[in-house]
Amino acid sequence: MISSIIDQNTVDRLRSLINGVHRIVITCHKSPDGDALGSTLALCHVLRRLGKEAYVVTPDMAPKALEFIPGVRDIAVFTKHEARVRHYLEQAELLFCLDFNAMHRIDRLGELIEPLKIKRVLIDHHLDPDDVFDVKISVPEASSTCELVFRVFMQMGLLRFMDRHAASCLYVGLLTDTGGFAYSCDNPEFYEIMASVMRRNFDRITLYNKAMNTFSADSLRLQGYAMSEKMKLFPQHGASLIVLSKEELERFNYSRGDTETLVNKPLAIPEIYWSVFLREDVDRIKVSCRSQGDFSVSDICAKYFNGGGHQNAAGGDFMGTLAEAEALFYKVLGDLFPDIPVNETLTPSQEQQEQTP
Ligand code: 5GP
Ligand code: MN
Repeated sequence: MISSIIDQNTVDRLRSLINGVHRIVITCHKSPDGDALGSTLALCHVLRRLGKEAYVVTPDMAPKALEFIPGVRDIAVFTKHEARVRHYLEQAELLFCLDFNAMHRIDRLGELIEPLKIKRVLIDHHLDPDDVFDVKISVPEASSTCELVFRVFMQMGLLRFMDRHAASCLYVGLLTDTGGFAYSCDNPEFYEIMASVMRRNFDRITLYNKAMNTFSADSLRLQGYAMSEKMKLFPQHGASLIVLSKEELERFNYSRGDTETLVNKPLAIPEIYWSVFLREDVDRIKVSCRSQGDFSVSDICAKYFNGGGHQNAAGGDFMGTLAEAEALFYKVLGDLFPDIPVNETLTPSQEQQEQTP
């Protein structure tokens, strides 16, 4: 039995909002991931089946690796199709904000949305959402926004409109936001939702392989390099750090998404329960963190790296040099574990260099 966790009042308000409009825009956070794209596209598809004119607009491009999600190519991308995005927003009578909790997570698209006099609906699973939404469905315990979109369909009696196309989109978010059913999916209802999605008979194995097991040769080589040469381990702190500079990324023809799952890898080592990845971007250092158990990386990202996220998967932006970001990581180690001296274990090539007289 899948319980109705969304307050009935909220569901009723959402139903009457949807009933009262025709044109609907749905958006999600910048650098959209499988959950952001899957949830927006599934909702868009079902709203269209309800007879609405619905569009997905995103702040920036989806990574190439996620182009397989049904409907991605029809998305209006602000950095690429600005006129179309403006047009959709001018015409919109209702706005859905999916998989983000604060307007700054949608970059310049936020400035366009701010003055709009239309109702805003939040469906999200990040902590501490902004107070700018008229209807707020915010459930940090949920595995993914796709789970919440499913629950909205269920509680609104819309599941009969969830066809294989919508189900494929939801599957991608349920899969990727749990790291392939590895974390954030301890609630048995998660699998009941999966079962209901699976009954729509899409090609699950192909989607799984495209979402979880598809990398370019460059990406695989970059990940191999990062693992063998750049992973610093701090077993006494349970920590791992990977730092990649722009120059290193360029050496492997980096394109967005190539390092997507890299930060998870060090957690395979039994002593390591939190992992930090610093990637030098054009104008900032992108910070990405993962952890296991009660250790909260969202607290670390909020306190030190202008970010946030979930307890076990969080991120942020550092405005400064890569060296400064790395120094800040060492400060975090010192702050969290003042009594443990910092003794990183060396990578194989560093060990070799040390042994060479
Ligand atoms: P990733 O490491 O995959 O980029 O991000 C993991 C999670 O961290 C995301 O789902 C999101 O919740 C959060 N996150 C990533 N980057 C940022 C950021 O710059 N700001 C905030 N507030 N959260 C972020
Ligand atoms: Mn998500």
